[in-house]
Amino acid sequence: MLAHNVDFNLTRVCLECLFASSIYRIAVGSDGVRISMESALTARDRVGVQDFVLLENHTSEAAFIENLRKRFKENLIYTYIGSVLVSVNPYKDLEIYTKNHMERYRGVNFYEVSPHVYAVSDNSYRSMRTEHKDQCILISGESGAGKTEASKKILQYYAVTCPASDQVETVKDRLLQSNPVLEAFGNAKTLRNDNSSRFGKYMDIQFDFKGAPVGGHILNYLLEKSRVVHQNHGERNFHIFYQLIEGGEEDLLRRLGLERNPQQYQYLVKGNCPKVSSINDRSDWKVVRKALSVIGFSEDEVEELLNIIASVLHLGNIQYGGEDSGNAYITTDTQIKYLARLLGVDGLVLKEALTHKTIIAKGEELKSPLNLEQASSARDALSKAVYGRTFTWLVNKINVSLTYKNASVIGLLDIYGFEVFQHNSFEQFCINYCNEKLQQLFIELTLKSEQDEYEAEGITWEPVQYFNNKIICDLVEEKFKGIISILDEECLRPGDASDITFLEKLENTVGGHAHLTTHKLADGKTRKVMGREEFRLLHYAGEVNYNVNGFLDKNNDLLFRNLKEVMCMSDNKILTQCFDRAELKDSKRPETAATQFKTSLAKLMEILMSKEPSYVRCIKPNDAKQAGRFDDVLIRHQVKYLGLMENLRVRRAGFAYRRHYETFLQRYKSLCPETWPSWQGKLADGVSTLVKHLGYKPEEYKLGRSKIFIRFPKTLFATEDALET
Ligand code: ATP
Ligand code: MG
Repeated sequence: MLAHNVDFNLTRVCLECLFASSIYRIAVGSDGVRISMESALTARDRVGVQDFVLLENHTSEAAFIENLRKRFKENLIYTYIGSVLVSVNPYKDLEIYTKNHMERYRGVNFYEVSPHVYAVSDNSYRSMRTEHKDQCILISGESGAGKTEASKKILQYYAVTCPASDQVETVKDRLLQSNPVLEAFGNAKTLRNDNSSRFGKYMDIQFDFKGAPVGGHILNYLLEKSRVVHQNHGERNFHIFYQLIEGGEEDLLRRLGLERNPQQYQYLVKGNCPKVSSINDRSDWKVVRKALSVIGFSEDEVEELLNIIASVLHLGNIQYGGEDSGNAYITTDTQIKYLARLLGVDGLVLKEALTHKTIIAKGEELKSPLNLEQASSARDALSKAVYGRTFTWLVNKINVSLTYKNASVIGLLDIYGFEVFQHNSFEQFCINYCNEKLQQLFIELTLKSEQDEYEAEGITWEPVQYFNNKIICDLVEEKFKGIISILDEECLRPGDASDITFLEKLENTVGGHAHLTTHKLADGKTRKVMGREEFRLLHYAGEVNYNVNGFLDKNNDLLFRNLKEVMCMSDNKILTQCFDRAELKDSKRPETAATQFKTSLAKLMEILMSKEPSYVRCIKPNDAKQAGRFDDVLIRHQVKYLGLMENLRVRRAGFAYRRHYETFLQRYKSLCPETWPSWQGKLADGVSTLVKHLGYKPEEYKLGRSKIFIRFPKTLFATEDALET
């Protein structure tokens, strides 16, 4: 009797490797170690194919999912579609990220080792080094699918495997340590992910001529600021607040006027979820404090940063009194006193600014009192602005410490995936628009790279039919008639503009569009599943209803002038950098949130277009964050909106498999007496002789300039099986 089965990591690679003709399973039992052999055929049956292009029935979504499931059950979380890596979150620590694993992938041909995020990292690195072309790795997937973890693995891979020197070590440390800092300030526990990134991130890693990382640069996108003042049930505010309260030293908390109890703070109680079992705020606090000093924050800067974080909590505790329609007043001065001290502002001026608004009309400053509701939202607007701007300051500060240089780069994009909730608002609208743009880029670039490869190899390219989602991007972003333009127009229109007038304007302007409908315009069936205040977009990934409530406010993202003035007067050096006096003089309205986002996305697309892309498509296996659970419905949905079937179709349109002549010949030369033990002539002739000997029919393959293209997987499998006999 065998006690248990163990697959050693090394044999796992053999097991995984497409080329492996035999699979070794090592069983350890009372009778010692025994090695048994498993044929390639049974192994394929058990662990599936490591590249979806090798699926016999490549148009079947069921076959696709079955392959994913087989692999997932065997802890094989990575699978390719050509050069695209599909990754399924295992929700458990797998022993596949060791230094040994990194070494195994270093400098090795993509296809000769099992699929891994390290293979993608290494491939990009080598392309950058040998072809001198900037690279980018685009990581996508829904919340909790494993994007941030993947991006951290990639960064660690470079930190460990790239050449080092003292100066490089500092940069590596800073690159790595930027993660805990940005996660503390930009991540939060949500229902979907205990460590959900609430901002988009694009990070350039820069390499010198020796291939050593020498710098970096981060661009951040659309932080979910609304979380600072409100959290849904079961969710938390950004981690940093809890870390500070749980981990902050006694005298630090005393100085900041904070109590060691998150329940004391209005901004931390909304989700009723102060503690998360998977998170240790106290030890995370230590990690963040250390990371801040590695990155090069001075003690003074850290102090000022923490003053701001504490101030946001005090702001949240400001209570207003007064009738609904009457003027609001602040009930106690406790918070104002702390705020005045921590931010270095005049308490009376701040108090006045939190209960009145000033606007400039016809060159004159007009001041009017706020009612209860207005005052609360002015206070919340200040908290959001302070936190949001501080976050941007933090990113800039990290960038300065990473000393951006003009060098070769690999960019990493870790950005929010497509979101569909029960209730979708302005944030989901922006996020899903971003995903439309990325999908457009993905389709264009994958098609283009396929086409380029065929052309480079001298093989005729037959156009592939695919859904071009440009029509949806245009609907959102087009000048004058796009949804963002219409929204901006309503935001700028004085008078009776409201969320509802925005909806009406949508109906009047783009109501007839094939990808947009509203409750009023919908057919009977759709209307049943839409609210009166919703518009529905038919995204490439599916339909989403957006509720217009709050669209105008969120897009305007206004902060009253007098609150800005107070911040400009602050002694806090971070705040004075965040709130520039020039902003007060500028009579132009600031750009709306959606337009700013649109502009930054356009820039991002430009950056990505100028680089050679690789893709990691992440899938979340279940909603319970549990290991070993593979939820078909959930996965099918993601396969759909990640466009994986379409991706496979494009990749399989012509030939399923392609390899360099040399690699192919090396692998199969033993199957033909003329190529064994070695072929003396031109490689192409050797391959031609070999495949003719194997009986390949002309329609089954094509010979390009440097590669053989094989149309059907079964041809290759037959050759693979022949190796065994
Ligand atoms: P969001 O969009 O919400 O930021 P995300 O796609 O970035 O989500 P991650 O934070 O990377 O998701 O992953 C969520 C959790 O899943 C991680 O905290 C970790 O527990 C687990 N996880 C993800 N990838 C892996 C992996 N490769 N190995 C083990 N666990 C993983
Ligand atoms: Mg993330």
